[in-house]
Amino acid sequence: MHIRRFDPWQNKFCTCPTKYSLNPYTGCSHGCVYCYGSSYIKDFFKCREKNNLIENIKREIKKIHLQSVISLSNTSDPYPPMELDKRITRKCLEIFKEHGIKVLIITKSDIVCRDIDLLKDMEVAVTITITTLKYYEKIEPHAPTPFKRLTVLEKLSREGIQTGLRLDPIIPSINDDEIEQIINLAKSAGIRHVTASTFKPRWDSWKRLMNLFPERKDNLKDLYLIRGKKLGNSYYLDSSLRESIIAKVGELCSIFGLTFSTCRENLPKYGNSKSCDGSHLIFKSSG
Ligand code: SF4
Repeated sequence: MHIRRFDPWQNKFCTCPTKYSLNPYTGCSHGCVYCYGSSYIKDFFKCREKNNLIENIKREIKKIHLQSVISLSNTSDPYPPMELDKRITRKCLEIFKEHGIKVLIITKSDIVCRDIDLLKDMEVAVTITITTLKYYEKIEPHAPTPFKRLTVLEKLSREGIQTGLRLDPIIPSINDDEIEQIINLAKSAGIRHVTASTFKPRWDSWKRLMNLFPERKDNLKDLYLIRGKKLGNSYYLDSSLRESIIAKVGELCSIFGLTFSTCRENLPKYGNSKSCDGSHLIFKSSG
């Protein structure tokens, strides 16, 4: 099955509503240093097509409950550069539209704007990930720039499409001083919701980060390996530091009048939105 129940591992910190997940591509060419997908998918940064995806989706969609939300995508970006030519994500959207399926899109790509004509007639929300305005060339080397992504938010919002920001991941000493600026700019671009999450490296993303920022190595080692703790395969910051980062995002969101949630932080008192992933935006009357 390509359309699967989200979170097959049932992570105990995941608070996502029941939904399905589809990754139209295997792997992702954006090459983000913090990516988690590379820890469990071979050659992850080599984006490739899936065999017979569209035929399979047409079959699988008949088994999906009509009120369901399909999340595009949770492991890889649904709009890698090859989508311009292949149009696989677009074909999936056409099928979902035909069946009245609700869709939550998570992307860093401006290619999503090509599909505005479809999205306008669907029950859909688009969340765009922006993590840094300073280090994007270093940490998201092949993704569209965050400035382009802000333009995407503006365009989509102007077309009446519900939008949110994924401020994910926040890495102390790398991008935690950019939180306010990013939320401010995204708010001006029309978002209604923010999902924030601190960096929870796995071993491979940890090594990539250390190589990119050798001058921050000691500080990050202290924060993650000495004062933090390992939960499953991920390294977590100490909960008081995570709380202070997340609380700051929450305060800013309330100042800006945005709904706010966290992802896999296990900090239940933080967040005021009906969904952690922004899928409440799909149901336009709710907030
Ligand atoms: S866009 Fe997402 S899936 Fe793609 S490399 Fe970056 S973090 Fe990984």
